[in-house]
Amino acid sequence: IRRKLIAGNWKMNGLKADSAELASALAARWNAGPRPDCDLLVCPPFPLIVPVAAALAGTAIAVGAQDCHAKTAGAHTGDVAAPLLADLGCTAVIVGHSERRADHGESDSAVKAKAEAALAAGLIAIVCVGETLEQREAGRTLEVNTSQLRGSLPAGATAANLVIAYEPVWAIGTGRVATPAQAQEVHAVLRAELIALLGAETAAATRILYGGSMKPDNATELLSLPDVDGGLIGGASLKAADFWAIATAG
Ligand code: 13P
Repeated sequence: IRRKLIAGNWKMNGLKADSAELASALAARWNAGPRPDCDLLVCPPFPLIVPVAAALAGTAIAVGAQDCHAKTAGAHTGDVAAPLLADLGCTAVIVGHSERRADHGESDSAVKAKAEAALAAGLIAIVCVGETLEQREAGRTLEVNTSQLRGSLPAGATAANLVIAYEPVWAIGTGRVATPAQAQEVHAVLRAELIALLGAETAAATRILYGGSMKPDNATELLSLPDVDGGLIGGASLKAADFWAIATAG
């Protein structure tokens, strides 16, 4: 019942030329086929949303953003509002990525407000949670993830407008991927928490992505886990061949 979602988070990478090349390479793969049997999304830096969307026009590869502000407009220098993202053609936005929580001090309640702004603008909110290595080693993994989920979950969430991403901080950009057992354990606990928060039917239909050093050579194993419904891919999403290989692995 859950269609897999493979989402690329390009983070703060790319200039005009190489991002155009990456988007065109993805469009070429889409057009040539075979097409992966999953939803596809790429999230470039803000200024590249428009050219990337143009390069992907005519494909079903969706474009999203990496953050949004909680307000719809106003005096918030440097921030970007969710209605503008929707207007530019985005269908989704990542909120609460651990890099934003760390670099910009985003709390669960700030993430929740951003996610609510995303839903109000008609965007899918991809809400990220994940424990640090220190928290894992202290035996706090499940508690940290459920508490982040509870605190960050937007009001009005449905299986259609909410995606959760479990991204263990120690696995992001490190090449140290969670084992299948580690990933499945947290995904199952997040699913149980979603049942408590949103009800069994919504929880059963809501996608929970894994993120953190997902690569072509470990994607099949992770994507076959019962509660892993896709991937949020950083480094490997910057190479069309790798992103495509992950998308076709599931
Ligand atoms: P990497 O795939 O580079 O580890 O990044 C994961 C991530 O943070 C995606 O949001």
